[in-house]
Amino acid sequence: MAVEDFKPKFLAKSTMARKAADAAISATKAELINMARKHGRDVRLVHPAHTTVDCARCGARTKHALPLSERTCTCTLCGAVSPRDKNSAGVMLVRAGLNPAGVDRGRPDVPPGRRAA
Ligand SMILES: [Zn+2]
Repeated sequence: MAVEDFKPKFLAKSTMARKAADAAISATKAELINMARKHGRDVRLVHPAHTTVDCARCGARTKHALPLSERTCTCTLCGAVSPRDKNSAGVMLVRAGLNPAGVDRGRPDVPPGRRAA
């Protein structure tokens, strides 16, 4: 199971709102991890950057983030077409070191932030 290590830095404008949101997300995350451990599941936190602009199939990054109204992403490199949420989920699985079916050229060994620029 892969969980986005979500840090909503830019979502909440006021400090109070941000603190509340952080607390809520931390609590949810902690509970999810607890539940997963209890049931013998493997939970991995995934760096959330670029999950919506990377291609889950070939790892290519699109130049521009899709507008939220655009629900389908098409890879300019390998031509993979997938619903954006499904693609993001695929990217997260690859980063978590998991290998979902259909992802044959992911880069699970490269930690986030250490990719070649
Ligand atoms: Zn691709």
